[in-house]
Amino acid sequence: LPAPAAIPGAEPPAGGESLESLGLYPVPGEPDWAAGFSEFWQPGEAGAQARLARFAAGALKAYDAARNTPGIEGSSGLSPHLRFGEVSPRQAWHAARAAAKGSGVETWLKEILWREFAYHLLWHRPEMPQRNLRAEFDAFPWHPDATLLRAWQQGRTGYPIVDAGMRQLWQTGWMHNRVRMVAGSLLVKHLLQPWQDGAAWFWDTLVDADLASNSASWQWVAGCGTDAAPYFRVFNPVLQGEKFDPEGAYVRRWVPELAKLPKAFLHKPWEAPAGILAAAGVALGRAYPRPVVGPAEGRARALAAFG
Ligand SMILES: Cc1cc2nc3c(=O)[nH]c(=O)nc-3n(C[C@H](O)[C@H](O)[C@H](O)COP(=O)(O)OP(=O)(O)OC[C@H]3O[C@@H](n4cnc5c(N)ncnc54)[C@H](O)[C@@H]3O)c2cc1C
Repeated sequence: LPAPAAIPGAEPPAGGESLESLGLYPVPGEPDWAAGFSEFWQPGEAGAQARLARFAAGALKAYDAARNTPGIEGSSGLSPHLRFGEVSPRQAWHAARAAAKGSGVETWLKEILWREFAYHLLWHRPEMPQRNLRAEFDAFPWHPDATLLRAWQQGRTGYPIVDAGMRQLWQTGWMHNRVRMVAGSLLVKHLLQPWQDGAAWFWDTLVDADLASNSASWQWVAGCGTDAAPYFRVFNPVLQGEKFDPEGAYVRRWVPELAKLPKAFLHKPWEAPAGILAAAGVALGRAYPRPVVGPAEGRARALAAFG
């Protein structure tokens, strides 16, 4: 084989400095937001194989039903390992097929294929990470707003299922797929923030941040992707919470300031009577925010802009 051509910038630094000291490979400093990640992840091939084996022997069979429930471990958690090549999609595919039969396996294999589809799209449309796949979205009236974006990033939108997801992301580097869709929808539809801002935050914070899957998924959420949901599909963050986190296990875990609210109000604390809020120790508007944009107003704004 011919010697590989030199890649500009990839030469070892002269003078013995480390790449890190030159700022080329920045690692978390103070504060180190990734300090708690080792509780959730074991990077490397051994960790990947252990997780695949555990999933194949356990949650795989019931994946069909359990994958949409963020309060339980219903999916494989293999995404960072797949992202970094610590397990290959072929290994995962064959391990799953050997372990079980039925709708759980079939549905899971389709997810592996969604990943392949995202790579196919990125190969054919390399502009996908930045530009709308559907050009008619280029004139879309976004309302960039740094305060709204910050509230979303920090898990302080006032919508408990979204805030739980954004905090799970910050604390573990991962977010449940259902909640990624709901949180993404809130950002681009209710809050009218450009999908690229959401994708950039996920890119910075996800341990499975993957240029193909992240870009394709954000374009799907925004409606400008190839297989995009129709514009009038605006996820209702309250109904999504009530449907997929009915007992509130997920919200109570990641938004502990709401943990004592009864489930009737857990996904819409602003509707709870003052006495119930007081009994649960929830100071709405102080310890936990009211919705940054009201549910009906957000939906109406989205439909007007996307219509
Ligand atoms: C807005 C948004 C951004 C996303 N960004 C990423 C990302 O940066 N990296 C990433 O790997 N996934 C991304 N996804 C897809 C999906 O959320 C994750 O792959 C999944 O949550 C990972 O958890 P898991 O390993 O338990 O998945 P499982 O449900 O166990 O699925 C198995 C594998 O299939 C692949 N997969 C599953 N769903 C999808 C999908 N919709 N698109 C592409 N591949 C999929 C993943 O590699 C995953 O590990 C994104 C989804 C959304 C809605």
